[in-house]
Formats: sequence, C-alpha cells, structure tokens
Amino acid sequence: MHLDQQTLAVVMIVFFSSTLVISAGLVFALRAIEAGRLWAFGHVMVSCAGLALAVSAAGGAPHLGMAGAGAFVVGWLLIYRGVRVYYSLLSHAGPLATAGVVVVGLMVTFAGLPDGPRVLQAAVYGILAMIALATIATLLRTGRGRRSIGAPLVLVSSLVQLSTLLAGASHAVTQAADPHAFTLFFIGPAGSAWALALLIAVLLGLFGFTVMAMEQIIANNESGARLDALTGLLNRGALDHSALGLVARWQRDGQPLSCLVIDIDHFKQVNDTFGHHAGDAVLREVAHALDNSRRASDVAGRYGGEEFCILCPHTDEHQATALANRILRKVRAIPLPGRECFASVSIGVAQLRGETGSKELLWRTLFADADRALYLAKQQGRDRYVVASATLEDAPPPALVRVVSQIMAPAPLSQGQG
Ligand code: GH3
Ligand code: MG
Ligand code: MG
Repeated sequence: MHLDQQTLAVVMIVFFSSTLVISAGLVFALRAIEAGRLWAFGHVMVSCAGLALAVSAAGGAPHLGMAGAGAFVVGWLLIYRGVRVYYSLLSHAGPLATAGVVVVGLMVTFAGLPDGPRVLQAAVYGILAMIALATIATLLRTGRGRRSIGAPLVLVSSLVQLSTLLAGASHAVTQAADPHAFTLFFIGPAGSAWALALLIAVLLGLFGFTVMAMEQIIANNESGARLDALTGLLNRGALDHSALGLVARWQRDGQPLSCLVIDIDHFKQVNDTFGHHAGDAVLREVAHALDNSRRASDVAGRYGGEEFCILCPHTDEHQATALANRILRKVRAIPLPGRECFASVSIGVAQLRGETGSKELLWRTLFADADRALYLAKQQGRDRYVVASATLEDAPPPALVRVVSQIMAPAPLSQGQG
C-alpha cells in the first residue's frame, strides 16, 4: 500500500488531533500520580508536534516542521521521565531538561544552514531512537517480574518506534529527498507502511501508558485501604487478614507464631494535657518505633485507638520478649510534648499453642491471650511486658480476666522491664 503525501498528511492530521484530545483529557484523568501527569503532558506535546509536522508536510511550511520536530523530542523526554518516576528511579529532571534545551537550540542554529535540515532530521531521529532504547531498557530491567498489562504494550510500542526511527535516521543520512525542508522521511518514496507503523506504535504506547497509570492508581487505592492513615501501619482489617494467613502457615509448618499487643500508657492524659494533635504526633512516633523494632517478616498494625499489634512468625514467646524489650527501650526515648517526661507502653506477649479449631478461632484465642497479658502488665504498673503463658495456671479464662481482675489482685507474674 502506498499513500501519496497529501493523503498521509491528512491521515496524520486526523490521527494527531484525536490523540491530542485524548491526551488532554488524560492530563485531568491521571493527575493523581506524577508519572501519569508526565505521560499525559508528553503525549499532548507529541500530538501537537505531529500536527505541526503534518501541516508542514501538507503546506510546505518548513519552520513549522522544525518546531514540530523539537516538540516531538521534548514530548518523548517527558514521557521517558514519567517511566523513571513510575519505577521510582532517579528522574534525571536536570539532564533531561538540558537535553530538551540543547535539541531546541540545535534546531534554531541549524535551521538556516545549508544542508541543516538534513543534519537535523538525522539528529532528531537518532535522539528519539535513543529515548525509545532507554525506555525499553528501563522497562526490561526494572519492570521485570511485576505483573502489568500496560508495560508490555509500551514495550512493544517502543520496539516498533525504535525500528521506524532507526530507519528514519539512516534514510535522512543517506538519501534525504529534499535537503532544504524538514519533513518526515516516510512522507515520500520511503513508503507509507513506516508511517502507519509509527502511528500505530504511538497509539499503542498512549494506551499502554494509560493502563500503567491506572494500574498504579488502583494499587495506591488498594494499599490506602489496607493502611492506617495516621500511622502508616496496617489497619485492623489488613492485620486480621495477615493474621489468618500466618495462622494457616502455622497449621501447615508448625513453626511457632507469637503475638504482641501493645498499648500506650496514660495516653488519655497526653490528649487531655497537650491536645489531640500532640496525641496524634505521639501515636505516629510510637508506631514508628514499633516499625523500626520489628523484623522484616513480622507484621505490625494499629489495632485501634492507641493499641497496636505485632505478629511474629517463626518466633516463640521467649524470642518475642526480645522484641518487647526493644520496643520498651525505643518508646522510652520518645519525649512527650513539654519534653519533661517520656512515653511508655505496656505489652502482652503470647504464643499460639497447639489448640485445634478454625483459623479465626485460633487467631481470636492468640489475641485474647496477649490482650490478657497486656491487661496484667497494666495492673503491674505499666511500662513492662507480661508473657501470657506464665500467668495461665492461676488465671481465669481470658474473657473473664478484665472483669475479675478489677476485684482481685493479680496472680504473681512473669514480667520484664527491659
Ligand atoms: P492506660 O495506660 O490504661 O492504657 O490509659 P490510657 O489513658 O492510655 O487509656 P484510655 O483507654 O483511658 O484512653 C485511650 C485514649 O486514646 C482515649 C482516646 O481519646 C485516645 N485515642 C484513641 N485514638 C486516638 C487517636 O487516633 N488520636 C488521639 N490523639 N488519641 C486517640
Ligand atoms: Mg492506653
Ligand atoms: Mg487502650
């Protein structure tokens, strides 16, 4: 199939007008994430560039073509920066902006020179090919192993673009038809198949980037629904979910599973004395101390109010007391507002024992054991941990503990003050 120059120019005008409208809409739709904003702005730029090149090819306006080529490069630099931001790599904002300025500067400098457009044409195709190559390398290196539908689409699109751009660069070097006008190499005898391949690649890329941005927005929403907004730890629902998974693992492999329930001491006084905002700041600091004390495999969550829970797989209660001690020490270093005294927590430690029953029942029992021990730690004077198993012989059933211990002195305890 071969389309003449005018027809191709009209196809391009229709095509880039459509992508301009779509990407302008995406600027709003994807504004929630930085990579999405960069991709949408980049495609707005690329669409304007495509329109300028098409109009220039149809009407022979070489300066418009030159401006379009510069905008093409700037647009693709923005898109590439979006890829780096997406994968949390250094965004190279400075070098990429410098590259954009240099390209536009070259455009202006070379435009008036004899044979300048031909040199520029080769340079632009070469630079665009390098950007496509860098995008491909980043996707292959960083995106490997991640489940994504958008990234493979962008990869295919970048590969097609790379081949058309390399063809364009070599065509411009060897046989540019008109050395005085900046036109697209494929508008002319080089063939409209390249042109259509490039347009399809741009469309595929636009679609792929949009899907990637949507994937990130969905992932952010999911993690937002799992995390406690104030402390950044897991919220109660997510903690329950993780706990059931760990109990199931415990049922399978029989490795010990321990639980710490942690409650800030006299927290109401902090709120009453210094205000709710100051209380929130202390909550955040305590959560941070817990997060920094746990191992990577431990699961930490805010169970509610000023109460936290840490689940420690492959850990018996004796090993869990080492974590309790670390937490006590770290929290004691957190100054309360006014800086005259420091925070403290009480901790109940329990290990899941060999009961049978459903996962839900086992998790409830484990938590109740740790909660009972926590209550006894409060009774014993706070700022300490109590191990549930050491209190079992003398203790009433967990559900009764809170009521009974209000009217009885607690039994002798195994306790620690690290
Ligand atoms: P104890 O040592 O016995 O645990 O005493 P306490 O004062 O810590 O316990 P109490 O249950 O009497 O009070 C808990 C307080 O925690 C009351 C509530 O206002 C406060 N609280 C719960 N959630 C939040 C929160 O998100 N932010 C703030 N600032 N305070 C909270
Ligand atoms: Mg408390
Ligand atoms: Mg409490």
